[in-house]
Amino acid sequence: MDILVVLESSNGSLHRMSREAIVGAQSLAAENGLSIGALSMGADAEQIASIVTSYNIDEVLVVNNDLLSPYNADGFAECVKQVVEQESPTLVVIGHTYQTRDYFPKVSARLDKPFIPDVISMNKENDSFVFTKTVFNGKLGSEVVSNDSACTLISFQAAAFSDENIMSGSATTRQVDISLEPGNVKSTSEAPFQEEAGGVDLSSADLIVSVGRGIEKEDNIPMAKELANALNGELASSRPVVDAGWLPSSHQVGSSGQSVSPNLYIALGISGAIQHVVGMKGSKNIIAINKDADAPIFEIADYGVVGNVLDIVPKLTEVIKG
Ligand SMILES: Cc1cc2nc3c(=O)[nH]c(=O)nc-3n(C[C@H](O)[C@H](O)[C@H](O)COP(=O)(O)OP(=O)(O)OC[C@H]3O[C@@H](n4cnc5c(N)ncnc54)[C@H](O)[C@@H]3O)c2cc1C
Repeated sequence: MDILVVLESSNGSLHRMSREAIVGAQSLAAENGLSIGALSMGADAEQIASIVTSYNIDEVLVVNNDLLSPYNADGFAECVKQVVEQESPTLVVIGHTYQTRDYFPKVSARLDKPFIPDVISMNKENDSFVFTKTVFNGKLGSEVVSNDSACTLISFQAAAFSDENIMSGSATTRQVDISLEPGNVKSTSEAPFQEEAGGVDLSSADLIVSVGRGIEKEDNIPMAKELANALNGELASSRPVVDAGWLPSSHQVGSSGQSVSPNLYIALGISGAIQHVVGMKGSKNIIAINKDADAPIFEIADYGVVGNVLDIVPKLTEVIKG
């Protein structure tokens, strides 16, 4: 196969960023006549494989091995390494999730192959793939070419591709054996990252209510939380809110926080600085409420309300609850 997409489970469902990675692989494959395989491993390997067989890819490789459950970086890295050695793909692609950050550098080191992380787009020039990454807090794009024509590992930034564009099809499945000894697994992992007890990883949230400095004081944070709860969404923030200690750093969206791409992002009292926008511009719909009609956030908002969040938010929550 030419492209191997490494899949991730999110509580038994296919992680949204794995779907996005499949879309990236499908567009590359369609433009360049390449074949795609997908690798499903870990506790939910069969379940995830059964979802992915309905997409337009060639085959799904399934690795069932007790040492891959629960997730551990050593086991996953060794599994991807062995599958890559067996299948010899030219590109190995994956979503840039927390789990990817945890174990994919190990895959790169074990294979001695380059890893280009957090890619936002790519194209083919002559015979080489050119990958674009953002640099200087999203102000510039940097084009990177791999120096290894045999195999390169790539991770895609959240929202680099829209999972709505995934192409359906019918893939075959194949069981793949790897050789893994208990001695290969030297680390144990804690429970997957959660924003807070009972919360979710913001990068896979569908609806986000995000507060900025315009919320004015810590005592007003519950007001935004109530709106998020009423909408069944997650609470996020800009950096000043985290710097002030009003919310933990896991809530921060932006160049030094999380990259998110929900269906709806509601920005409350956020000015729209580039360092914030770079983390949320992949949102499918953006509603901004800001008392300054000239705030830059309105340039990227689909809907804008010029007004005081402290007046609007409680009324909005009341209407939604009703
Ligand atoms: C290296 C670096 C990394 C950074 N990383 C990040 C990052 O990851 N994430 C991030 O967010 N920032 C980051 N920043 C900071 C960034 O530059 C901005 O300072 C920050 O995003 C501004 O946050 P804000 O919009 O909440 O606050 P402000 O820019 O102060 O904007 C507040 C907005 O609220 C509005 N407002 C005020 N009161 C009300 C009200 N009552 N009702 C309605 N609107 C109101 C104002 O009109 C204003 O537009 C970074 C900066 C640097 C230098």
